[in-house]
Amino acid sequence: MLLEKKNDIQVSIVIPVYNEQKVISSLFGRLQELMNTSTLKLECVFVDDGSNDDTAGQLISICMNDPRFQYISFSRNFGHQVAIAAGLKNARAREAVFIIDADLQDPPELLTAFYQKLKEGYDIVYGIRRNRKESWIKRGSYYLFYRLINKIATLRFPVDAGDFSLISRRAVDVINLFPEEAVFIRGIRSWIGFKQAGMEYNRAPRVKGSTRYSYTKLLRLAMNGFYNFSEVPIRLISYLGIASISIALIYLIVTLINKIVYHTVPQGFTAILFTIVLFGGVQLLSIGVIGEYIIRTFFQVKNRPPFIIDKKIFDGVHSNEP
Ligand code: UDP
Ligand code: MG
Repeated sequence: MLLEKKNDIQVSIVIPVYNEQKVISSLFGRLQELMNTSTLKLECVFVDDGSNDDTAGQLISICMNDPRFQYISFSRNFGHQVAIAAGLKNARAREAVFIIDADLQDPPELLTAFYQKLKEGYDIVYGIRRNRKESWIKRGSYYLFYRLINKIATLRFPVDAGDFSLISRRAVDVINLFPEEAVFIRGIRSWIGFKQAGMEYNRAPRVKGSTRYSYTKLLRLAMNGFYNFSEVPIRLISYLGIASISIALIYLIVTLINKIVYHTVPQGFTAILFTIVLFGGVQLLSIGVIGEYIIRTFFQVKNRPPFIIDKKIFDGVHSNEP
């Protein structure tokens, strides 16, 4: 019923938000400005990823006062990627969904340019970061991640493209079909295909506050990219096995020749110790890699809901339905 009433919305803007109390007022200002000046009919969908500061209070008051702003909150922190997935499921626009970060690193005003590109016949228009304002450790890690994943993944990932993108209605519908447990939005977005285009942009620094991504969260995100979109890590184990068997055979032959032909006394205690320790490590690592795939299978098989919704405010109306 809601859908019928609201299907004049052309683009939904999905914004995952986690403890961003310092940012909300600037964000709201920029979004309001965009909505008032754009020729498109827009709605914003805030997904509050279990914030425990004043974020919820501020967002609720915005959404109760202006029906163009919608609010969904999770029962706890489920993570940025899951928040985007929830936003995609609840976005009602009939033409496209625009995904941006709450900290205004992705300029909302680029919607106009992205939308034009979409109208040229693309289903997905994603932003490519021309510059980064993060520390060199983060920049270096991102650099390595995108190059490495392109080497090992079964599909091509656009380099330096994050979640900032405009996705057509039909592509969003396809993404919403994915029952992925450890969801990695930019991976799924590449995987589904269709015509995709990248648009370069300057990534702004965060307006206020500090990053909500700890190194652990970032590492987990990277791991989801590797393990969910590549079987290379598990294949490497077999290659490693073949390589070590070959080395062992050569070593055996050398030892036998030494013993039979030259009658040398047994030597190589260090070599043996080294080999045991090395291959002990290699085996543990290999079990770990297999474990990563098993963990993923385990959680997927459990078939738990990917997130739990606590509150919803749509069109200025409060509801507690999940
Ligand atoms: N975020 C979220 N859940 C989290 C962590 C972050 O919804 O557990 C949101 C955050 O509020 C922001 C976006 O995801 O809108 C990107 O986070 P952040 O800016 O901290 O990441 P960075 O830009 O530093 O990679
Ligand atoms: Mg940010």
